[in-house]
Amino acid sequence: MAQIELRNISKRWGSFVGVDNFDLTIADKEFLVLLGPSGCGKTTTMRMIAGLESASEGDILVDGNRVNELEPKDRDVAMVFQSYALYPNMNVYENIRFPLKVRGVDAKTHDEKVRRASAMVELDEFLHRKPAELSGGQRQRVALARAIVREPNVFLMDEPLSNLDAKLRVSTRAQIKNLSHELAVTTIYVTHDQIEAMTLADRVVVMNKGVVQQVGSPTEIYDRPANAFVASFIGSPAMNLMEGGLSGGRFTAQHTDIAGLSGQDGPVTLGFRAEDASVVDSGGQINAPIYTMELLGDATMVTVRIGGVLVSVKADKTFRAEIDDMVSIHVPTDHCHLFDTQTGARLG
Ligand code: ATP
Repeated sequence: MAQIELRNISKRWGSFVGVDNFDLTIADKEFLVLLGPSGCGKTTTMRMIAGLESASEGDILVDGNRVNELEPKDRDVAMVFQSYALYPNMNVYENIRFPLKVRGVDAKTHDEKVRRASAMVELDEFLHRKPAELSGGQRQRVALARAIVREPNVFLMDEPLSNLDAKLRVSTRAQIKNLSHELAVTTIYVTHDQIEAMTLADRVVVMNKGVVQQVGSPTEIYDRPANAFVASFIGSPAMNLMEGGLSGGRFTAQHTDIAGLSGQDGPVTLGFRAEDASVVDSGGQINAPIYTMELLGDATMVTVRIGGVLVSVKADKTFRAEIDDMVSIHVPTDHCHLFDTQTGARLG
C-alpha cells in the first residue's frame, strides 16, 4: 500500500521558484501523470518525492508517515529515467539482478525474481545479451525490469519513452499501462506528451511554470479545461482559441458571429475543438478563407486564419477545396468554452 501526500511542497533556488505550492494526495495504486511543457517543474516534483531533491517547503507523506528526511534508498520507490544507464559489462540478467544484490535481498530468491521481471517485459530470450547488443526499446525494457524486480510500492517514471521511436513508444506505452495494472503499484509518470498522459493516466496533473493548472481524469481535462493554458496544451490539435467580444450572448470576432452563448458582456476568449466543429455548405457562424488543408487519412483538417490566429476544423476525408476558397464553419454552442481573456480562467 502506498498513498502519497504532497502537502504544499515548493522548491526554490534563491528567488527562482521551480515548484510552487504543489498540494495533492495520490491514491494507493493510482497512475498519476505529471504533464506540462519543458521547465514547468515536473522532474523537480518527482525528484522531491524520490528524495533526490529536498523540498524548500511543505511535507511529503507516504502512508501517513513524513518522509522528508529519509534518504532515497530508504524510500520504497523505484525510478525509471529517460536515460536508462545500464551497466555495459553486465548482461541483461545481471543488470536486472543488480538492485537485488545492492539491497541485500536473499540470494536464493534472485533467480526467480529476475526471471519473473524479465518475462513481464518479454526479455526472457535476451538474458545473456549485453546492452550493446540490444535495441533501444529492449534496453528501455531492461530498465523497466530492473525497477520491477525490486517490487517497490511506488514507481517513478521520468519520460521513460522519450528515446524510443514512434512505433516502439506506442507498444512500450501499452506495456507500461498493463504492468502498472498487473503489479498494482502507485505510479507517478512524467511526460510533456499529452497523448501519453491521456492514454496512461487515471489522473493528469497539468503544470505550467511551477504551478499546478488542473488535476483531473483525462476526460475531465479534455472536456472542461480549467483555463486557456490547459485548453491549448491538451488535444491534438489543441483547442482553437479566438479572442473577441461577447454581447447579449453573441460572440463576435473577425469572420465570426456565434449566437446563443451565455456569459457577461465584454472581451472573452472563445475555445472549441476541431472535432466538435464541421464544415457546412453555407450558414455557418465562421466564414473565412482556407489557409491550409491536411489529409489525415480518416479526415481532412481544414485550417482558416482569423486575425492572425489559426483555427482548425475536422472535415470529411472526401472534402475538397483550394487554398483561399471561402469555407463556412458550424460551431455547436454546447461545445464552446469561454475563457477570461486577461487571466485565462474558465468562465462558467
Ligand atoms: P523538462 O520537461 O524539460 O524535463 P521539467 O518540467 O521536468 O522540464 P524541471 O526539471 O522540474 O522541469 O525544472 C523546473 C525549473 O527549475 C526549470 O526552469 C529549471 O531550469 C529549474 N531548475 C531545475 N533544477 C535547478 C537547479 N538545480 N537550480 C536552479 N534551477 C533549477
